[in-house]
Amino acid sequence: MIAKRMEYLVQNSSVIRAMFEEGKVMAKKYGAENVYDFSIGNPNYPPPPAIKQAFLDILNNEDELYVHGYMSNAGFESVREAVAQSLNRRFGTSFTMQNIVMTCGAAGGINVALKVILNPGDEVIVLPPYFVDYGNYVRGYDGVIVTAPTRASDFQPDPETLRAAITPKTKALIVNSPNNPTGVIYTEESIRAMADVLFEKQREYGTSIYIISDEPYRDLAYDGLEVPYITKFYPNTIVCYSWSKSLSLPGERIGYLAVPSEADDFERLMAAASVATRVLGFINAPSIMQLVVAKCLEEKANIAAYDANRRLLYDGLRNLGYEPVMPQGAFYMWVKAPGGDDKAFTNKAKEHRILVVPGASFGYPGYFRIAYCVAKETIERSLPAFEALARELGLI
Ligand code: PLP
Repeated sequence: MIAKRMEYLVQNSSVIRAMFEEGKVMAKKYGAENVYDFSIGNPNYPPPPAIKQAFLDILNNEDELYVHGYMSNAGFESVREAVAQSLNRRFGTSFTMQNIVMTCGAAGGINVALKVILNPGDEVIVLPPYFVDYGNYVRGYDGVIVTAPTRASDFQPDPETLRAAITPKTKALIVNSPNNPTGVIYTEESIRAMADVLFEKQREYGTSIYIISDEPYRDLAYDGLEVPYITKFYPNTIVCYSWSKSLSLPGERIGYLAVPSEADDFERLMAAASVATRVLGFINAPSIMQLVVAKCLEEKANIAAYDANRRLLYDGLRNLGYEPVMPQGAFYMWVKAPGGDDKAFTNKAKEHRILVVPGASFGYPGYFRIAYCVAKETIERSLPAFEALARELGLI
């Protein structure tokens, strides 16, 4: 017998993952070129050549016992220091290795952060639409998810829904910008407004409320837009970064936590993060990947390719009568579900071999999400299918 908690997770397993599997079956049946699988955020562009070179250099030149051995649970000190200095150069922070713990991607980082701060019954606020696994992570530590919907007009955080959601039990707010699924970058004004509410509520309740800043898309911003660095506005921030998306390494499981020294209970928090990394069974982030990314800290994401996809898809859909939100970052497009029923729409889309994810999977019905981290040709080939669907739905 599997555990009750696990039964729930299996039954409510990710719609996105299920679609990804369905896409593979459909590709076998109809031919991969005839299926337009926009279900999952798996980057379709290879990592920069520097990644392979770093692997080769490490394997050729470094001591094997060092490369493949255990190290401190927080990660190699040299890697943590290199990450800290890179952040300081780019964002004007003042981190040292003491502020960094290497993690198994952003998901690993968020789990470490939650393990460190949550007591049973503690509340964690999320901002719908939001990445659904947050709920599963929070429940895993006996926490409770509380929602504070973003503004319907632009999907920016809403200080008023946030204020209403905070209670004396609030331990954290999870923020994700650039956002999955909307592609929206939270503005400096939004971050300052959120910070003001959190400062006010911390004072009122005499508590510490941490922002967990989930940042796998930080380096995917278009049109030269800046993604504000949240620690500058709110020191009680745990940044969870990942190279999964920026350098196309999602299977490698590598990222880090960064926490400013000014965060409440900083020293115990960092010590607990190391222990959490170990007791969650990660032990440490993959050793060779730590060494690889440390050599590639200045490498850039393939923004140009995603930008070309973004424009092609946005223009294509608008011409067909759909109502997409122009993404500012990440590689997702958030589109109003024609007719308003996102599940009915995504089922209908499947009949045209288009796989997209209903907004309900992000706690926000009425929209659907397109992951456009695919080959440009997939988008080109999908537009006639979107057109046939638009005609069937009377959009054109
Ligand atoms: N957070 C968000 C918002 C994501 O979209 C994803 C992956 O798609 C993750 C976290 C997990 O990323 P990682 O592969 O770095 O664990």
